[in-house]
Amino acid sequence: MAKLYYRFGTMQSNKSNQIITTHHQYTTQGKRCLAYSTPVDTRSGYKKIKSRIGLELDAEYISESIFDDVKALHEEKAVHVIVVDEAQFLSKEDVHNLSDITDELDIPVIAFGLKTDFRNELFEGSKALLELSDAIDELKTICQFCNKKATLNMRLLDGKPVNVGETIQIGDEEYVPVCRKCYKKRLELV
Ligand SMILES: [Zn+2]
Repeated sequence: MAKLYYRFGTMQSNKSNQIITTHHQYTTQGKRCLAYSTPVDTRSGYKKIKSRIGLELDAEYISESIFDDVKALHEEKAVHVIVVDEAQFLSKEDVHNLSDITDELDIPVIAFGLKTDFRNELFEGSKALLELSDAIDELKTICQFCNKKATLNMRLLDGKPVNVGETIQIGDEEYVPVCRKCYKKRLELV
């Protein structure tokens, strides 16, 4: 039985790199891996997944017709796995459609993304993935300010930590991985 996987991590936790590596491993073995991203983040350029160490991969954007799209592709030539980047930006409906791909077409789906936003609140896609996934893994990285494991994302605006503003803002500000203690301390929540 295929599974729906959710691999979450903070910023800089190597998610895009793992997607590209997974895709490479499957295709090297002659297996068909479909790569998808979400249309919210277009920084990588149109339909591109880019890792911080310079690797890149073409990807399709997830749409409402994802189940039918994959079904048609699978009938044409067997699909062995599906990888999804920026899964936090999926809608609840998208996640349900991905679970249908796993259950009805028996294709494993591996979704990579952030768990929480800079206010430490779950994204819609993350929440649905935590509720529905068969297997959940955490990708680890280190806090920007100390050596503890980072579990939260901090938004820096002009270099200063902020926890207000729109959930999805892509561009000028910077996001860094931090531990809970540094998050509270820097935002003066303690
Ligand atoms: Zn820290």
